[in-house]
Amino acid sequence: METEKCIGCGRCADVCPGNLLVIEAGRARLRDARDCWGCTACVKACPRAAIFYTLEASLGGAGGRLYAEDSRDTLTWVLRLADGEEQRIAVNKKQANDY
Ligand code: SF4
Ligand code: SF4
Repeated sequence: METEKCIGCGRCADVCPGNLLVIEAGRARLRDARDCWGCTACVKACPRAAIFYTLEASLGGAGGRLYAEDSRDTLTWVLRLADGEEQRIAVNKKQANDY
């Protein structure tokens, strides 16, 4: 989490299925990272891209981070690799469940 970006809106806490996030002193905090199973609901819900998912070596290289940028109709996954390379994948939210 990039705490300095957090505005304490609580959206991440509202969507976490494990109730793992709390708002303290106007900032979100993960109670215990060992309890998180990486569903990424909080990553998608954060309007400030303050929460990121750390990618293991097999998923983008050690140090890679996955963020989400949310706009009205589009969710954009932003993959920042450790070497600075950035890849973006835009998903139309209205078609996200079409297979
Ligand atoms: S990724 Fe972890 S902290 Fe975030 S919503 Fe899912 S279980 Fe909760
Ligand atoms: S959703 Fe983002 S900005 Fe809002 S409380 Fe959670 S981390 Fe902070």
